[in-house]
Amino acid sequence: MENEYLKTKKILIVEDDVSSRLYLNKILEKTGATLINAVDGKEAIEAVKSNPGIDIILMDIQLPVIDGYGAAKKIRELRNDIIIIAQTAYSLLGDRERIIASGFDDYIVKPIFPHQLIEKLTSSRRKL
Ligand SMILES: [Mg+2]
Repeated sequence: MENEYLKTKKILIVEDDVSSRLYLNKILEKTGATLINAVDGKEAIEAVKSNPGIDIILMDIQLPVIDGYGAAKKIRELRNDIIIIAQTAYSLLGDRERIIASGFDDYIVKPIFPHQLIEKLTSSRRKL
């Protein structure tokens, strides 16, 4: 379903698993948002460098080349205004602290359900 807030947004999806990436794209393309994809942390950093209009990043934590923590830290050095949301397989408290310390604004725990993802992307704001 088209989403008034998200349809004007450019969202970078960072996910190394092909089926998860397709799943996230399928959910988010319905909102009307502009979608960009990256398959590892290094590609995510490069995507931010070459796309100044990115508003929101949905980033997996476990990624090849550079993981989600490292990519978020680097992206924060480049852009302080992008909302970065982690997608994590873990619900451990220690993970939450590390996620926030790495520059993420929020996180969502896998498995990700469509309504939950839309709600998270719509309500998350940049923590300054
Ligand atoms: Mg992964």
